[in-house]
Amino acid sequence: MMPRMKESPPPSAPPATQRARVLIVGCGFGGLEAARALRHAPVDVTLVDRNNHHLFQPLLYQVATAGLAAPSIAAPIRHLFRRQANATVLLGEVVGVDPAAHALSLADGSQLRYDYLIVAAGATHGYFGHDEWAEHAPGLKTLDDAFAIRRRVLLAFEAAEKETDPAARAALLTFVVIGAGPTGVEMAGTLAEIARRTLPGEFRNFDPASAHVLLVEGGPRVLQAFPEALSTRACEQLERLGVDVRTGARVTAIDAHGLQVESASSPGNASASSYRINSNCMIWAAGVSASPLGRLLGQATGAQIDRAGRVAVEPDLSLPGHPEISVIGDLAAARSYAPGREPQPVPGVSPGAKQMGRTAAANILRRLKGSPALPFRYIDYGNLATIGRHAAVVDLTSPLGPIRFSGTLAWLFWLFAHIWFLIGFRNRVAVLADWATAYFRYHRPARIVTGVRHPQADAPPAEREAD
Ligand SMILES: Cc1cc2nc3c(=O)[nH]c(=O)nc-3n(C[C@H](O)[C@H](O)[C@H](O)COP(=O)(O)OP(=O)(O)OC[C@H]3O[C@@H](n4cnc5c(N)ncnc54)[C@H](O)[C@@H]3O)c2cc1C
Repeated sequence: MMPRMKESPPPSAPPATQRARVLIVGCGFGGLEAARALRHAPVDVTLVDRNNHHLFQPLLYQVATAGLAAPSIAAPIRHLFRRQANATVLLGEVVGVDPAAHALSLADGSQLRYDYLIVAAGATHGYFGHDEWAEHAPGLKTLDDAFAIRRRVLLAFEAAEKETDPAARAALLTFVVIGAGPTGVEMAGTLAEIARRTLPGEFRNFDPASAHVLLVEGGPRVLQAFPEALSTRACEQLERLGVDVRTGARVTAIDAHGLQVESASSPGNASASSYRINSNCMIWAAGVSASPLGRLLGQATGAQIDRAGRVAVEPDLSLPGHPEISVIGDLAAARSYAPGREPQPVPGVSPGAKQMGRTAAANILRRLKGSPALPFRYIDYGNLATIGRHAAVVDLTSPLGPIRFSGTLAWLFWLFAHIWFLIGFRNRVAVLADWATAYFRYHRPARIVTGVRHPQADAPPAEREAD
């Protein structure tokens, strides 16, 4: 059912002689799209982000696994908006919000004022109340995360070349990815390919193909957002690449040298319910939590916050009692309002964030004209996930019903779809060239690691561990 939009008091409108100030927090998929949608509008747009770049997160795992360099998937925000005369880009971290004063405060103590505010600060890793695990099993969300993971993976192989103790070497060569959503599946599949295809021949004291890549998932299957048949195909493709997939396996503890897993059964011991995996390289892909800005907004405006820290928004993406503030993207607990259908939750994916960005921008323009805001409607085009070379699953939504396929065709579809959406970045041809090289030579060009800390013989054992 389509909701009737509540008539809220108009925000304190700017004087007629002054253009409305639209402040956008975060230049990820949602913020970028909102700012672009306002490019011809008679408003002054300010974009503030704590990073100087927009990041194409769907290909972040390629940086973490040395397949692509950072400029291939990130672009300076300032450069993206160089031709948008009504947009100003600021580097800064938002740490406070004062809805009564229509102002935000930044970490450096400065304030920014707005007539309309769009908050698109995204999400971060969620460790289900075990934030101490982050140190041992980093997640993948930013370029810094990707560099940290790439470093851990490559230095684990380096340390294995020097290690003489078989058990210690086995732990160095055990890579555990926790969480079998699209990011976990991509990471595990690519790590297995690196071990079996990229590195063989480069080490003298061990065979990189002997590396053990595990994908540990608490739920009953991989890629749970996909239909069961595609999950099964994905699992088969992972196993073909050499990934040890363990579903129904809940992680209960993580430390610097491994993790504890609880499962109905464990390999080689059908009755055991808890076992340990020794590993020096664990990667967290199991949970996300909304940006802390969500809770700040909740406290300041009375908006409800869900368990993942997302802000409950009105059908038009504004906050209750604050039509001048919209929350979009991964930070919003939003619903889609399609005619004749019950409202549906919007998934935390880039098309959702982009579509919300366009709706939030359109509603600001409607309000400026005195027209009622429109409810958000999400158009779902489907889901894609890649597993490795010639291995992917595709689940498309079409008016004729779902279109589902897997294998080589799905992989080609995934590849070209991602290159297509790399608009505005270092040119797509360069990325395609990097992938073509990787394809024909199994080469991963971005394997340079700098600033390696070498263990000192007289340092305590904890400081002598591999980086
Ligand atoms: C590894 C990975 C792979 C993914 N793969 C896919 C995929 O294949 N397909 C898909 O559809 N989706 C994918 N997603 C999800 C998709 O990237 C998100 O849904 C999307 O980025 C959400 O957009 P957003 O604008 O809400 O937030 P983001 O794109 O995360 O942008 C948030 C922005 O806010 C800024 N920010 C945060 N806090 C502050 C602050 N306090 N002050 C100032 N700036 C701040 C950040 O620097 C960032 O630029 C993936 C996500 C990840 C992490």
